[in-house]
Formats: sequence, structure tokens, C-alpha cells
Amino acid sequence: MIKPDATSAGNTGAITKMIEEAGFRIVAMKKAQLTPELAGKFYEIHKERPFYGELVKYMSSGTIVPMILEKDNAVEDFRKLIGATDPKKAAPGTVRALFAKSIDANAIHGSDSDENAAIEGNFFFSQFERF
Ligand code: GDP
Repeated sequence: MIKPDATSAGNTGAITKMIEEAGFRIVAMKKAQLTPELAGKFYEIHKERPFYGELVKYMSSGTIVPMILEKDNAVEDFRKLIGATDPKKAAPGTVRALFAKSIDANAIHGSDSDENAAIEGNFFFSQFERF
């Protein structure tokens, strides 16, 4: 999911290009805006973290671009492509090193397991929207 800081900075195209050039197939993609309720639900696993309120506010503040991506070893390879959560620690050339503004407004989200990728894909897309 491309996050609001990256969409508002006009980096959706550049990031999507990096994703495709890294060998991912875009199975589904759209623009959307989360309500605070839905952003809270998406990040429910972080409910007890001190930054949860800030994260929900930020994630519902603007346009996001959720995608379903396909590739062998997709979860691990995508996390390598996006880089560390904190852009100051992200390896050079990664999406977050190039486009993230801060540890919270960090340009992009990637699922952390195949199981969560399925849950998050279902959160944003109905079966009807995939091809
Ligand atoms: P990710 O898997 O790399 O996205 O990182 P996490 O699952 O640990 O955190 C989820 C999201 O919460 C991150 O992508 C950031 O947007 C936000 N986040 C993580 N750590 C912090 C923090 O220390 N402060 C704030 N404000 N936001 C954070």
C-alpha cells in the first residue's frame, strides 16, 4: 500500500514503476481513502503501541493506493525493496530511502507474511476486483 505522504507528493507512479521493475505483477490496484475507523482496524495489531493514535490519524489523512502483488518469495523480496521502517535506517535505493518523510509517514506498507498478505488483500479488494 502506497501511503498518503507518497501519494500527495506525486510519487505513486515512481513507486509503482520500482515495484514492477523489481518483478512484481500487479494483480489489483486502486486509489482509496481510509476512514479513521478502517485505518484503526487495518492496524489493529498495533493497538497497544504508543504511536497507534498518530498512525491511524496519518493513515486516514489522504489518498492511499492499495495493491495485491504477486511474485515468488514476494513478502521477503518486497520488504527488501521497501527498506527499513525508519527511512534513516533504510538501505540506499529502497523505496523508503528514496521517498519516505519520517518513521510514520514512510511512503509504503508491505505485508509481513503470506497469511497477512491474504488478510490485507481481502481487506481492500473483493474477489470481483481481482484478475
Ligand atoms: P513496517 O512493517 O515496516 O511498516 O513497520 P511496523 O509494522 O513496525 O509499523 C507499522 C507502521 O507504524 C510503520 O510503517 C509506521 O508507519 C508506523 N510506525 C512504526 N514505528 C513507529 C514509531 O516509532 N512512531 C510512529 N509515529 N510511527 C511508527
